[in-house]
Amino acid sequence: MIGWFQSIFGKRPLQVERARWRNWAGNRRVRADVYFEPRTKGEIQDIVRRAKADGKRVRVVGNSYSWSPLIGDTDQEQSSAEVLICLKRMVDLVRITPHRADPDFVPTVVAEAGMDLGTLTDVVEAAGLALVSPTVIPFLSLGGLIGVGAHGSDTQAPPFPDHVVRFWFVDADGNERVVGEDEPRLMRALRANLGCLGVIFQVEIRCVHDFTVRVINETQPRLQAFDSLEQKGHDHPHMSVFWFPYTEKALVRTYEYTPGRAPTRTLAQRFVKRAAKLVLQKWLGPPGLVIVTRLLPKMTPFFMEHFAFNLFKIQGGNRQIERSAEAFHYVLNYPQLHDMSFAVDAHLADDAWRYFVRKANEYAARNQFPLSMLAHSRQVAASDSYLSPAVGRQTAYVEILAYRGTPGWEAFFQDVEQGFYDAFPGARPHWGKHFWDVDRIRQTYDRPTQAMVDGAEAPANHMSTFLEVRQELDPEGRFLTPWLRRVFGIS
Ligand SMILES: Cc1cc2nc3c(=O)[nH]c(=O)nc-3n(C[C@H](O)[C@H](O)[C@H](O)COP(=O)(O)OP(=O)(O)OC[C@H]3O[C@@H](n4cnc5c(N)ncnc54)[C@H](O)[C@@H]3O)c2cc1C
Repeated sequence: MIGWFQSIFGKRPLQVERARWRNWAGNRRVRADVYFEPRTKGEIQDIVRRAKADGKRVRVVGNSYSWSPLIGDTDQEQSSAEVLICLKRMVDLVRITPHRADPDFVPTVVAEAGMDLGTLTDVVEAAGLALVSPTVIPFLSLGGLIGVGAHGSDTQAPPFPDHVVRFWFVDADGNERVVGEDEPRLMRALRANLGCLGVIFQVEIRCVHDFTVRVINETQPRLQAFDSLEQKGHDHPHMSVFWFPYTEKALVRTYEYTPGRAPTRTLAQRFVKRAAKLVLQKWLGPPGLVIVTRLLPKMTPFFMEHFAFNLFKIQGGNRQIERSAEAFHYVLNYPQLHDMSFAVDAHLADDAWRYFVRKANEYAARNQFPLSMLAHSRQVAASDSYLSPAVGRQTAYVEILAYRGTPGWEAFFQDVEQGFYDAFPGARPHWGKHFWDVDRIRQTYDRPTQAMVDGAEAPANHMSTFLEVRQELDPEGRFLTPWLRRVFGIS
């Protein structure tokens, strides 16, 4: 509806009554009473105050890439919302601290929360800086990335939102609030907030000095690749492990720090490299695999072994030196897909891998191939944010992906989800990806983890503390939905 208006009239309206919203994957559709795209903090304040006067609930939308039902009222595909706010017009750079030679100086960037990660990456790179633990996909908004506690791979640094040092937001009464590191309890709640604490319109983010990495792609037997992952994460802070389902091999990709700058490429060389990647990612690989996995699912193992694995490997290059941003944002085009990711204690990473390889192979033995794309694992350092899936422990994210339309993908993902809860104490789903069983989430944030049981840490009720902060900031539940109430276990 909104896109339709834009295509006819050439510009987007600031406000649409009875608007229809859908997410990128197309698995969530929401009918909103009214949808706004404010341009200023003042406009956000007016919208929130009006919603309060009318007794309406408010949800904030980022770039709509989440699969989970964070925006609508329910977990049904079709859902409703009262007031939707999207910050697509608040995308400006506010300021950036200049690069300084002093090694103790901590550079930061201040930007509006509607800006996307790719733009911010370019902005900081031009100032000689880099972001910490960015996601692979560059199209996400800062508000959305922070909202779900998103992460990249870095065992020496916590996920992306932990690097926000100041928030500017409009609270449930329509007042502007500015919160910095001198208020740690609020910061820990804001850094992964699920859009429940207010409308964040500006953030200040800590950066590091720009760096380059050597990208190493190594094919390993599956059993070797999944062994001692926690130790490997210590040895290689930036590491991704990919398994192409039903094969006996895995691809281990490490990004090793290198001194100096990446080799300068001419504009033409950059263009050719990007064009080649795009052709592989958009037209050569996924379309064929989507057809195979939908129409000839039994051929999936053959194509994984002989096509998908090699195609993926070629794109990664080997031993090339790249700017960190270029290396970390290695995917330029995403086919429509389904994704579920669980965060587990890093020392359980090997078992988690073996668990879903076993599951996938059990299905394959019954001639079912629902895991049609790949499995992927990354590790991060412990987060301090109450609702980050990585809170309180060194974490491994293990993720499974299936092309949209793959027969049986949903039943398989749900089966794997239950196994994660049953077999891996403290396993928590990524908030932006697929998950179904909301009744088991709260205990994973509040129940003591294994380290606490062993006496290494004091029990910490992360979700309960988040909910106390939420209650103080929004006692009427203006930013809550019935679905979020179920997730939080509150009435
Ligand atoms: C292809 C693909 C690849 C991905 N790769 C990764 C990855 O590498 N690592 C990773 O961690 N995740 C990844 N994700 C998941 C992604 O991090 C989340 O889905 C993310 O939230 C999407 O950002 P968005 O801007 O689309 O936010 P949305 O999905 O629109 O919103 C997410 C949440 O943030 C809240 N929110 C948004 N803006 C604001 C604001 N201004 N103020 C307050 N609340 C706000 C919303 O209310 C909602 O609760 C990937 C997703 C896709 C589709």
